Amino acid sequence: MILIVGGAGYIGSHINKELNKQGYQTVIFDNLSKGHKEAVRWGELFDGDLSNIEQIREVFKKYPIDAVLHFAAFIEVGESVKDPQKYYQNNFKNTLNLLQVMLENNVKKIIFSSTAATFGSPEYTPIDEKHPQNPINPYGQAKLMVEKVMRDYDVAYGLRYVALRYFNACGADVEADIGESHNPESHLIPLILDAAIGKREDIKIFGTDYPTEDGTCIRDYVHVTDLASAHILALKYLLDGGESDCFNLGNGLGFSVRQVIDAVKTVTKKDFKVTEVERRDGDPAILVASSEKVKNKLGWKPQFTDIKVIIESAWKWHQKINI
Ligand code: UDP
Repeated sequence: MILIVGGAGYIGSHINKELNKQGYQTVIFDNLSKGHKEAVRWGELFDGDLSNIEQIREVFKKYPIDAVLHFAAFIEVGESVKDPQKYYQNNFKNTLNLLQVMLENNVKKIIFSSTAATFGSPEYTPIDEKHPQNPINPYGQAKLMVEKVMRDYDVAYGLRYVALRYFNACGADVEADIGESHNPESHLIPLILDAAIGKREDIKIFGTDYPTEDGTCIRDYVHVTDLASAHILALKYLLDGGESDCFNLGNGLGFSVRQVIDAVKTVTKKDFKVTEVERRDGDPAILVASSEKVKNKLGWKPQFTDIKVIIESAWKWHQKINI
C-alpha cells in the first residue's frame, strides 16, 4: 500500500489517479485544509493532520504501508516571507513527524515534493542538480531543510528517498477528472484562464523589463501528468532497491509570460485585457530546468511539451469547474 500525504491536493491527486490506474493501492492522508475531498476519487481517504503525530501513527497502524509520497505543504512564496513560522512549522516540522513515524514502523522509502525554489537565484541556465542551492525565501528554505534531513536519515537510519524538484507545475488531467484549484489562486495559468472566462477583469504581467526576448519572465511549465509519471518511475526505482537521489523536473523548455498569455488566447479563442505592472519581488528572469538526470537515470520523458496542449488540458478543467 502506498501512503500519499497531501493526496487531495493538485499534484498529489494526479499521482493518486495514475498509481491506481497502474494497480497500486493507495491511502490518502490529508487534512483537507487546501486539498479537496472530491479530488480523492481513488484509494481511501484518511482525514489526518501531520501536526498530530498520533494521527500519523494511526494511519500506519491501520494500513500495511510500503512507501510514502509526501506532497502536503503550503506553497505560496510571498506568504512564506511574511509568515515564515507557518512554513517552517508545516512544511518542515510536520515533515519530521512523518519521517519519525515512518522510522518507527520501519518504512524507509519516501518520495518528497521539493522545488526549484531550493536553488534560489539562478547562477546559470538550465538548472541541473549540481547548481548551488541557496534559497531566497522560507518556502524554498524549508524544502531544502527537508532534503538535508533526509540525507542525514539515509546515512544514519537507511531511509531511502527521492526528492523531486518541480519547476512550474501546470495543466490538468486530460480526462478532466481532476485539476488545479487553489484558494487564493496565485499561479499564472489558472489566473489567465480566469480572465478568459470573465471571472477576472484582466491578467497582470509582473514586469516587462526583464532581460528576455519579450521582456517578461521565462518559466519551465511542466505538466502535472508528466510529474505523475516521474513519481511512479521514482517509486518503482525505490521499491527495486534504488539509492537515494534528487532530480529536477521540468520540460527543459521555457515560455515567457507573454507566450503563455498568447497561447491561452489561441486555445480559448477569447480576448481579455492584459495589464503591464511592476515586477513582483523575488522573481528571477529565467528559471528553466535541465531534466537530463531524471531522463537518463529513471527513463522519464515528458509528453506535454507544447504549451498549447498543456493549456488545452487546463482549459477543459477550468470550464468544468466554472459552469
Ligand atoms: N505572473 C504574472 N502575473 C500573475 C502571476 C504570475 O506575470 O498574475 C508571472 C510571475 O511573475 C512569474 C510567472 O508568471 O514570472 C509564473 O508565476 P507563478 O506564480 O505561476 O509561479 P512561480 O514561477 O512563482 O512559481
